[in-house]
Amino acid sequence: MPDTTIREIIDRRTRPLLSFEFFPPKDDAAWATLRETGEALRAVRPDFVTCTYGAGGSTRQRTMEVCGFLREIGFAPVMPHLTCVGHSRMELAHLLREWHEQGYRNIMALRGDPPRGFSQFRPAPDGLSHASELVEMIRIEYPDICCGVAGYPEAHPESVTPEADVRHLKAKLQAGGAFVTTQLFFDNEYYFEFVARCRAEGIEHPIIPGLLPVISLKQVQRMCAMCKTALPDALARELEKAGGDGDDAEQVGIRWAERQIEDLLDRGAPGIHLYILNRAKAALSSELIRFFANR
Ligand SMILES: Cc1cc2nc3c(=O)[nH]c(=O)nc-3n(C[C@H](O)[C@H](O)[C@H](O)COP(=O)(O)OP(=O)(O)OC[C@H]3O[C@@H](n4cnc5c(N)ncnc54)[C@H](O)[C@@H]3O)c2cc1C
Repeated sequence: MPDTTIREIIDRRTRPLLSFEFFPPKDDAAWATLRETGEALRAVRPDFVTCTYGAGGSTRQRTMEVCGFLREIGFAPVMPHLTCVGHSRMELAHLLREWHEQGYRNIMALRGDPPRGFSQFRPAPDGLSHASELVEMIRIEYPDICCGVAGYPEAHPESVTPEADVRHLKAKLQAGGAFVTTQLFFDNEYYFEFVARCRAEGIEHPIIPGLLPVISLKQVQRMCAMCKTALPDALARELEKAGGDGDDAEQVGIRWAERQIEDLLDRGAPGIHLYILNRAKAALSSELIRFFANR
C-alpha cells in the first residue's frame, strides 16, 4: 500500500503537525538505542517520521534499514532523505525506482554537503548540482512522490545573500517541492523573518520549523559552527551552568525547545519537526505532548 503524501497530511490537518527525524546508527549499540526510541515514541503518534541520508557512503544503506524498521513498528508515513552527493543520475534513478516500488511516496530531496575533504560541493560525474534538479528528476519520473525541501532561516552558509537563498528555495518549490522543513535555529525571530522573506518572494508553501532539543553544549557548538546557526548566549550560559552535558543539560535543552515550540505554534507555525538525535526524552516531555494534545 503506497504511503499517504505529507502534503495531503498538511492540507488535511486540524491541529499542528509533529514529526521526528532519525539518523542511521553507526553500530549495534546505536541501533539498540534507536530501537528503544522508536518503540517509546510510537505512543506520541507523530504525523510522520524521517531518516537522514549519510554524507559518506557507509550509512546510506542503513537509511532504508531504519525506514523499514520505523514502518515495521507502525510509523506512517516514513520519509527517507536523499542527497545528490556522490550519485550519478543513473544511481539516483535506480534508488528512486526501488523506493517507489516499496511504496515510499515522500522524499526529502537535498543536495547534500560537500564530501569530506572538500570545501565546495562538486557534483558526481553525471550527477546533479542542486536540490532543485533532484526535485525535478523525482517529480518527472514519479509525480505521485511528494518532495520536502530544506529551508534556511539564517540563510544557507554558501548563499550570497538571504534573498538569493530564498530565490533558490523558490526554484526548488517551482520544480515540484511540496513543503519546506527548516534548518535548526534557536531564536524564533529568524524563523519568522525567513517566512516573511519567503512570502514576499511569492512562496506560499508550508514552512515547518525544525528544532533541536540540545543535549550537550559542545555538540551544539559544533553543529552551529557547521551550519552557521546562531547559538544564543543565554542558552550557552544555561547549558554551561548545567555542566555542559548529562541529564541537567538535557533538561535545559528540552525547556528551551518547549519555549520555542509554544511561541512558534502561538504565532502560526504549521507544526514542528524535531531533530531528536535518536533520543526519546525531548519528544516525550510532558509539555510537548500537552502542546500537541491541546490544539
Ligand atoms: C531539513 C533538512 C534536512 C537535511 N537532511 C540531510 C541529510 O539527510 N543528509 C545530508 O547529507 N544533509 C542533510 N541536510 C543538509 C543539507 O544537505 C545541506 O545544508 C546542503 O549544504 C544543502 O542542501 P540543499 O538541499 O539545501 O541544497 P540546495 O537547495 O541545492 O542549496 C545549496 C546552496 O546552493 C544555492 N543554490 C541553490 N540553487 C542554486 C542555483 N541554481 N544557482 C546557484 N546557487 C544555488 C543555495 O542558495 C544554497 O546556498 C539537511 C538540511 C535540512 C535543513
